[in-house]
Amino acid sequence: MDLVVPVFLCNCGGQIVLPHRSPLEIPGGHYYWPTNTPILSVICPECGHTSGHSHPNLRWAELQALPPNPPKVFWRTEIECAQSDCEFPVVLHAITTNTILPKRLEDLVRDALGETKCLRGFSHRLQGGKVRAEVIDWELK
Ligand SMILES: [Zn+2]
Ligand SMILES: [Zn+2]
Repeated sequence: MDLVVPVFLCNCGGQIVLPHRSPLEIPGGHYYWPTNTPILSVICPECGHTSGHSHPNLRWAELQALPPNPPKVFWRTEIECAQSDCEFPVVLHAITTNTILPKRLEDLVRDALGETKCLRGFSHRLQGGKVRAEVIDWELK
């Protein structure tokens, strides 16, 4: 049986699956969305471009019940904000295989940051700014 999962569509046609709780067979389930985040920025796993999505963009799509092979990981990464007195870092999400090396992930994020802004609308500190990454350990399949 196929699963119905929350996705964003990239301009390339690629599906960006949001982490969610428990296999969902009906839409409307619980999915990952950080609080106070009107726009969720994600690097497309198909084309590598960054796009920002809001709640109305969310679709529900049927995916095969088989988990991806190799397994995929959803990352929340952040880099320091260019504004020194701002407490909000620039947050960018990425989906990669679970074997990615930390350095590769950091390069991926740095290359894809582009115009991504923090919650207060400031840019990132690409030069010298540290990239931190954590796994959002919810279901992706
Ligand atoms: Zn894409
Ligand atoms: Zn900031």
